[in-house]
Amino acid sequence: MAEKRSLIGLDAAAMAAALIAAGLPEKSAKMRVRQLWNWIYVHGARDFAVMTNLAKDFRTQMAEHFTLARPEIVTEQISSDGTRKWLLRTGPGIEFETVYIPEAERGTLCVSSQVGCTLTCRFCHTGTQKLVRNLTPAEIVGQLLVARDALNDWPSTAPGRKVTNVVMMGMGEPLYNFDNVKAALKIVTDGDGLALSKRRVTLSTAGVVPMIEKAGKEIGSGLAISLHAVRDELRDEIVPINKKYPLKELLDACRAYPGASNSRRITFEYVMLMGVNDSLADARALVKLLAGIPAKINLIPFNPWPGAPYECSEWSQIEKFAEIVNKAGYASPVRTPRGRDIMAACGQLKSQSVKERASTRLAAEKLAPTSTSMNEVQSGQLARMPH
Ligand code: SAH
Repeated sequence: MAEKRSLIGLDAAAMAAALIAAGLPEKSAKMRVRQLWNWIYVHGARDFAVMTNLAKDFRTQMAEHFTLARPEIVTEQISSDGTRKWLLRTGPGIEFETVYIPEAERGTLCVSSQVGCTLTCRFCHTGTQKLVRNLTPAEIVGQLLVARDALNDWPSTAPGRKVTNVVMMGMGEPLYNFDNVKAALKIVTDGDGLALSKRRVTLSTAGVVPMIEKAGKEIGSGLAISLHAVRDELRDEIVPINKKYPLKELLDACRAYPGASNSRRITFEYVMLMGVNDSLADARALVKLLAGIPAKINLIPFNPWPGAPYECSEWSQIEKFAEIVNKAGYASPVRTPRGRDIMAACGQLKSQSVKERASTRLAAEKLAPTSTSMNEVQSGQLARMPH
């Protein structure tokens, strides 16, 4: 029998089409989608059997054709500060990380958009992992479902949820996976399901300039820019995408970002690298550079990783830097490092997935033709790099 398909990640139209293809009468498809949608995204159903207000025959029919499978949790790590990191897996060699950061007033889920990354930012651990592939909408939405499952955080619509915010700040560059990120965030912000407000979703980019306006128009989330340097010469070196889209173009795109306003500021992320970008002259140049943009500046103490070529700035220097930025009228919270002990902090994410040559992959699949766990885990491990 053909493998059953998961309904997770399909939009309403695609779900209706799938139901009809499975033999459901066309006229009831819309209603069925509404019912399923509610069970899946409001109540977190993982099994059709729990949908007890739906006819038994219908549930049986669904279970014959579909699953509600999410990414599988390979490991869960819990930091001493309560941050949690999950390593998820959706197929041989496809592993990616998701991080949950609880705070007093909110809980933020840091979601990955790609396995690996193409950007090679010098200070970022993910940047040392080659791109394996883009994540699908199911794999992106799946990260939120897995977090809600693990945190016992259903139903979505009840007050006091643990996951209240989503930031596209995990592995990968979301604007290099635009269509899938857009489709996923549409489901995440759908008022009849997961129902996160667009104001609680932030997309972070290293500066894919041609996609920024499109993101504002078509996704409409908050925007964060990984700035990290105020001169092209330095930014070329530490955020190499700057060679393609230099600072002026990037900041012009920010000025034109649809929906930016004083009540919806653009966040500029600035990692504090000792002796590299942390001088007080840099702080003053930063303030000048952002003039006219509704901005807040997030100073991020550099989070170390094995073999990293930088060190974190001294606290006293970060404070002085922040003071200049504050005095110029910008909010400039220093981001408290969270989850460093489990390598879950900004820029520390990396999975061991490597892109296999198609021939290797096919051979591995022949060795492990079933979808059950042991074989697959082992074939996945064959592809792993030594840490
Ligand atoms: N590619 C997107 C999404 C990743 S967001 C982007 O670049 O915006 C991850 C954030 O953590 C980015 O702002 C990134 O620049 C920052 N970061 C990367 N490595 C870091 C490190 N070692 N310490 C602190 N922040 C880091």
